[in-house]
Amino acid sequence: MNRYIEQLIEDLQAARKFAPKQRSRNEMNEEEIWDELVEIDKIIDEEPDRPLQNIFGIDPASFPPIDKLTTEQAQLLSAKILELWAAFNIEASYPKNFPLERFYPMLVEKFRKPFMYFPMGITGIEFCHYEPEECPFGDEYCMCKEWSVEMMNKIEDEVKNLDPDELPF
Ligand SMILES: [Zn+2]
Repeated sequence: MNRYIEQLIEDLQAARKFAPKQRSRNEMNEEEIWDELVEIDKIIDEEPDRPLQNIFGIDPASFPPIDKLTTEQAQLLSAKILELWAAFNIEASYPKNFPLERFYPMLVEKFRKPFMYFPMGITGIEFCHYEPEECPFGDEYCMCKEWSVEMMNKIEDEVKNLDPDELPF
């Protein structure tokens, strides 16, 4: 298994060379910035979402199932996956203290999921849809819990402050 994982890590590292070269906005003239905005619109309107595996050329079937890995191996592979994504300016949102070995199956699964990728700027990936009952990180790590409590309080406050005479119903 060790040799296999070394090879897989080499493949993940090699895939970074396919990352699009990014230029920061202040290196671009006005026309180039406009071209980029048009390009972004085109991606949103015309490009079908593609699974991540097509973007990187990495087959998710090449990732061993979690029960075939030691904790260290799962952590290492997860870190390498996140590094590859970062090379493509893809940023994953997850609780910072979430154990990487538990994150691993979620990361592998994402390779199969359709994804709208922008070769410019930063593209975010979410795992949690801000529904605490369905949070893939679980109760202990869920960040969306605070979010939704905060949001509910805000909505309640707003409702309380509404003048009942002005309600449309
Ligand atoms: Zn959550």
